[in-house]
Amino acid sequence: AIEIRNLRKSFGDHEVLRGIDFTVAPGEVVCVIGPSGSGKSTLLRCANLLEEPTGGTVTVDGVDLTDPDVDLDAVRRRIGMVFQQFNLFPHLSVLENLTIAQRRVLGRGKAEAAAVGRENLAKVGLADRADSYPAQLSGGQQQRVAIARALSMGPALMLFDEPTSALDPELVGDVLAVMRALADEGMTMMVVTHEMGFARDVADRVVFMDDGRVVEEGSPEQVLGDPAHERTRAFLARVL
Ligand code: ATP
Ligand code: MG
Repeated sequence: AIEIRNLRKSFGDHEVLRGIDFTVAPGEVVCVIGPSGSGKSTLLRCANLLEEPTGGTVTVDGVDLTDPDVDLDAVRRRIGMVFQQFNLFPHLSVLENLTIAQRRVLGRGKAEAAAVGRENLAKVGLADRADSYPAQLSGGQQQRVAIARALSMGPALMLFDEPTSALDPELVGDVLAVMRALADEGMTMMVVTHEMGFARDVADRVVFMDDGRVVEEGSPEQVLGDPAHERTRAFLARVL
């Protein structure tokens, strides 16, 4: 579970997050939507302290990440992150991309890391591509490798930042299907997305952000179907 309390982030005198509160319970899928520049990526980056918050707390499974004494690497290991850009190592094979962090960060042996990697490749439907190189794969396949790589670290929580926005439209479905399967398995997920169909079908909760604040949150039916705030309605009118 992740608990975000009164989270603030400024870049210089530009306050990008203005006191964000929200929780993702174990097994819950929360989709974050909102206009460009509203602070969605900054929120995700603060959630694993890739970006240092200016104020507030982020607690992951009871551990406060903003506590200066915390072993940040240990907590980060429990959080998988998938970005819009897949960031695979181009000079490593798919399997090597999946094993390198397991070996370096978790200290797993070669055989164990490879077994875990292959298991997760199978999970994303790419069991037969272990020996390919990233450039030999489509964008959708590369993104599924990036998901398998994150899963190979055994995360308790997965953060996704617009994982399908860099993909050609015909490749989006396969990636969303993998994420949907992950949600069905009970993974705790925080997903920034423009895919309203995915949010409607998969999210337990939808959070609408604007201008560094959570404007409203609730069930997908409520937030997407019957929003309470004018800003949410205006945003949905543009994207739906
Ligand atoms: P998008 O939908 O376009 O991805 P977003 O909701 O993810 O937008 P953020 O990327 O979180 O928005 O950015 C929020 C604001 O913070 C923007 O005004 C952006 O210019 C600013 N910002 C983000 N990162 C930095 C940084 N490292 N330095 C300065 N300003 C930043
Ligand atoms: Mg963003």
